[in-house]
Amino acid sequence: MKLILLGAPGAGKGTVAKLLTAVDGSVQISTGDILRGAVQAGTELGKKAEAFMKAGDLVPDELIMGIMGDRLQEPDCEKGFLLDGFPRTIPQAEALKELLTKLGIKLDMAVSLDVPREVILDRLTTRRTCSNSDCQAIYNVKSNPTKVEGICDKCGSPVIQRDDETEEAISKRLETYNEKTAPLVSFYEKEGLLMSVNATSSDVVVAAIKEKVGL
Ligand code: AMP
Repeated sequence: MKLILLGAPGAGKGTVAKLLTAVDGSVQISTGDILRGAVQAGTELGKKAEAFMKAGDLVPDELIMGIMGDRLQEPDCEKGFLLDGFPRTIPQAEALKELLTKLGIKLDMAVSLDVPREVILDRLTTRRTCSNSDCQAIYNVKSNPTKVEGICDKCGSPVIQRDDETEEAISKRLETYNEKTAPLVSFYEKEGLLMSVNATSSDVVVAAIKEKVGL
């Protein structure tokens, strides 16, 4: 399947994307994961992105389109892809539309995950992420803790609270989302591609998406 996952930080895009990869072999493409990997590796991209990320601001569109232009042409995208955290602005959505037309790729839909603000705030402050950039498994100290405290179940690396998950950065990220990303919901509605799911349970979201795409 070829999907865009829309939703505020903490809406569950990453968790839903990971569950969907097991359905038909589609790959999860998370611009946040790619950028965090680049910051950790100290690449040119990472150096350019780091300050924006730490402050809860968006990284400039040109950098993101540079990443995605290459990523979507990699062979593992042929089975399908789940775009998690991209596009994040109207210019990115327009550039993506142009890119997909050029590559002859047709999107199935853009799924908007609608979750109440209190749930989002609670999730983001209790979320923990594996520090290994090749893993980046997601945990939650309340609802999905690691088996051994502070250690990733999957790869054994330390599990940390992200730099941009302080209260200040979270509030900035939510503000940025409302201002720059929320308008994408009407963009994809006009494109005739929007599916909105009102659910706080990832399993319910996954079941609704599977039914809609006929899997
Ligand atoms: P995420 O893991 O999706 O919450 O992304 C973490 C941070 O990476 C965001 O707060 C932004 O600073 C940056 N980022 C990720 N995806 C994008 C994007 N599509 N456009 C601009 N910045 C992005």
